[in-house]
Amino acid sequence: MSEAQDLSNTSHSSLIDTLTTILGADNIITDEGERAYYSQDVYNQGPPVLAVIQPDSKEKLAQAVAACTSADVALFPRGGGFSYTDGYIPTTSNGVTVDTRKMNRIVEINTEDMYVTVESGCTWAALDEALADKNVRPIFWGPFSGLNATVGGSMSQGSLTYGSSKWGPSGVAAECMEVVLADGSIVTTGSAGQPNHSPFFRHYGPDLTGLFCNDAGALGIKASVTLRLQRRSPVVMGLSYAFEEFDGLHKGMAAAAREGLPTEAFGFDSVVMKVFTGGQGLAQDLKTLWAVGMAGRNIFAGAWQMLKIALAGKRFIDKAEYTAHFICEARDMREMKSHLNALRKAVGPHGNEIVNTVPAVVRAYPFPPFSLLGTSGERWVPLHGILPFSRVAEFQEKLSALHSRYQEQMDTHKIITASMFTTLATNGFLYEPVFYWEDSREPFHDRHTDPEMLKKLTDFPTNMDGRALVEEMKKGIIDCFYSCGGTHMQIGKVYPYTRERDAGAMAMVKMLKTHVDPKGLMNPGALGL
Ligand SMILES: Cc1cc2nc3c(=O)[nH]c(=O)nc-3n(C[C@H](O)[C@H](O)[C@H](O)COP(=O)(O)OP(=O)(O)OC[C@H]3O[C@@H](n4cnc5c(N)ncnc54)[C@H](O)[C@@H]3O)c2cc1C
Repeated sequence: MSEAQDLSNTSHSSLIDTLTTILGADNIITDEGERAYYSQDVYNQGPPVLAVIQPDSKEKLAQAVAACTSADVALFPRGGGFSYTDGYIPTTSNGVTVDTRKMNRIVEINTEDMYVTVESGCTWAALDEALADKNVRPIFWGPFSGLNATVGGSMSQGSLTYGSSKWGPSGVAAECMEVVLADGSIVTTGSAGQPNHSPFFRHYGPDLTGLFCNDAGALGIKASVTLRLQRRSPVVMGLSYAFEEFDGLHKGMAAAAREGLPTEAFGFDSVVMKVFTGGQGLAQDLKTLWAVGMAGRNIFAGAWQMLKIALAGKRFIDKAEYTAHFICEARDMREMKSHLNALRKAVGPHGNEIVNTVPAVVRAYPFPPFSLLGTSGERWVPLHGILPFSRVAEFQEKLSALHSRYQEQMDTHKIITASMFTTLATNGFLYEPVFYWEDSREPFHDRHTDPEMLKKLTDFPTNMDGRALVEEMKKGIIDCFYSCGGTHMQIGKVYPYTRERDAGAMAMVKMLKTHVDPKGLMNPGALGL
């Protein structure tokens, strides 16, 4: 055990005592196994930290942060822990993980001024449930992982899915924030930053809320976030298309995005569709159909929808090389018809319309309990880049060439790849290559897998060569994105935010980091700082 990990070290044990006094004994974890678990994410792991702290208020969070930085100990903020770009992975064992999930209160729902303020550890699923009977939701209302993922985590790393094909990534919903800086002070951004002002509006002078969006926790720890609300739409419907080639999918999804109509848009290649729809068995299929039918009572034409799915859904999806799925919202059927007509006009020339199974299932189960493994227990990791529509074809060519170069090695090391796609507002195409490979599981995966499911999974032997190849290919794909002008959310400690960045802009970012975190103790390594 290194000196930093040795809790009998006087300065460390006195820090643990101080943290215990601030937080209470139930809100600090020093158990060795737990510290190791908190230092892992879906893909990677770092050194175990000294302790995991679980503050239950912003005041205690602020005191704990100040105590750690005074002792020259680093802080690694963690929300739901459902990321895979080393975002909260410790870069030193001389650190403390801040688990924000006990700060999960909904502070204020204001349907007159159309905002909701939540503590950062609130999950998207819990927020959605709390807002349901008020008939409102934030303009971005969560990622697929929202059962576990927190509002603070998504705001800090940048997320997409619900609402993002219309509005853009998660940060667009943020109005104001309270952020704890390295010295334990709390800054308030947006309109709430003046006395007698509520947190209703973001854009007032330089955008300090925007500064903390996508900062990977490198600038501070979010204590609370205020999100802009919108009314829930009474009419929600989906359209799905099949495409023979990637070119059709790309052009169809781009055309739909330019119309600004879908609230969500998802594209999948045939490998992903097999993983999603394969191996569920009749019982699960029926359960899914039932849930879709129930959702249909309000938002889909229920019985008809179920019949269509039962008769045709899987059959069409199984055959297509690529599929894309669009969800639209409207005030009434007349408006919906106009949306769907415009969408059909945009996407129709590039593909064939198929039964809309996927949109229906997605909206029936917006936050499903995801497995973090492939269907047989394979390891799994996605990466992504956001491209302008004009450079997607160039990226596709580069990616295909990279796959061809590696195909033989991938076969040898039992690696397969798949791809998912989405669009962000009217101007971003997100390409998400996904790796599956046979390899041993980590405690992180076991803990997040249903025990019954765990029994059925194959225990693959450790595959260090396969793992190394995935890492090498990931780096190659990130280079392809870079050469095609791609950007990234979820920068964590992986994506090349600082590479060749404009010198003046880089100097500003570094100066800012030094101002809010002079000792470099807030998530060191995040954003590449
Ligand atoms: C099965 C699965 C499905 C997914 N689906 C989606 C999807 O649909 N869309 C999508 O965009 N992503 C998706 N993801 C990725 C990820 O879950 C999301 O991006 C999610 O927003 C991460 O939230 P989290 O609370 O788990 O954050 P964490 O993983 O805990 O942290 C993410 C980053 O934010 C920082 N952070 C966390 N909380 C704070 C805070 N309070 N203050 C400052 N920094 C903080 C961490 O240090 C880290 O850098 C998925 C992941 C999985 C495993």
